[in-house]
Amino acid sequence: MTSAPIRDVIRALESVIPSGKKPAVLHEPSFQGNEWTYVRDCLNSTYVSYVGRYVDKFESMLAEFTEVKKAVAVVNGTSALHIALKLAGVGPHDEVLCPAFTFVATANAISYCGAIPHFIDSEEATLGIDPRKLKDYLKDIVSVDADGCKNKWTGRRIKAVIPVHTFGHPVDLDPVMELCNEYSIEMIEDAAESLGSYYKGTHTGNWGKLSILSFNGNKTITTGGGGALITNDENLGMLAKHLTSTAKIPHPWAYCHDHTGYNYRLPNINAAVGCAQMEQLSIFLEKKRKLAAAYEKAFASIPGISFFKEPPFARSNYWLNALLLDESASGLLEPLLEATHLDGIMTRPAWQLMPRLSMFKDCPAMDLSCAESLVKRLINIPSSPFLLG
Ligand SMILES: *Cc1c(COP(=O)(O)O)cnc(C)c1O
Repeated sequence: MTSAPIRDVIRALESVIPSGKKPAVLHEPSFQGNEWTYVRDCLNSTYVSYVGRYVDKFESMLAEFTEVKKAVAVVNGTSALHIALKLAGVGPHDEVLCPAFTFVATANAISYCGAIPHFIDSEEATLGIDPRKLKDYLKDIVSVDADGCKNKWTGRRIKAVIPVHTFGHPVDLDPVMELCNEYSIEMIEDAAESLGSYYKGTHTGNWGKLSILSFNGNKTITTGGGGALITNDENLGMLAKHLTSTAKIPHPWAYCHDHTGYNYRLPNINAAVGCAQMEQLSIFLEKKRKLAAAYEKAFASIPGISFFKEPPFARSNYWLNALLLDESASGLLEPLLEATHLDGIMTRPAWQLMPRLSMFKDCPAMDLSCAESLVKRLINIPSSPFLLG
């Protein structure tokens, strides 16, 4: 039943994944550090919600690790994106450039602002937005005036662009920044998947006006649910803290709020888990790179399929490892998903492209040929940090 190429792929996966680890899930969290100690301490303190030292500590650990001036912990990565876009000035009827090839949260957050996602293509070298294709496209469709960048076809303002560091692999940011400067477009990095990934030696998230991280259960570190805004603009960071905590003016008893704020603060109990996870982050990253190296070796000479490697300018966290089928072998995607699942290896296809989803089907989009091809050929494979033990 299974064809020879599929047997080769299964054999290569089995040469890496220990048989005792099956079923091997895509990404499993690990709590072998101070999680229980800190959570117990948090419960004993009774400060389980928004006040407490773990939130402050988690924020400073994040800022230090990612080398930014300010980190603000929030309930999840999606809410972080919502606030980042708002603080970048995105409002109703603006357009925001966003890859078609991303997780739905990126596009949803644009909608929360009343803005319209404008979908752009990706490049195979990074799995992120293609700056050269974007450059040609913008030349065609926009004009710049005192108001900023305008889409000539829709008449709407193009306010921001969101590069997504897909599966942890950094986007080629320098040429994207050049376009942002040329066209007065703000940049928000969706670094939800790229904690521990570096672009040209600097941690991802340092280029955006604001950037975001996610600590969902399947991400590199987890707080159960959680996220953060990170920024090098201290004033914006303070404003992000204020807006995500009901915009309350500090006072010992009075309730005074000066904006329509949001209740997006990360509870102290989640931050307690986060602090313990941050202490282990370098171990997770080391283990993940070892696993990626093992996959790379196992797939070095399998015809028709390749292991996706970090671009030359980047150091990736290899959050989710990916295999890419050659164009001519794309017919193998479905049979491969089925065969790996039968074998206890929980592979996954990539997301559906955003314009395929009913709520985004009428949004503007450029030619998406690369993203369309990637979706037909990409398969994520088990990537838990302790898969090799
Ligand atoms: C996980 C993720 C998010 C959202 O994070 P949540 O914490 O799940 O809200 C946003 N963008 C990308 C690319 C993600 O992978």
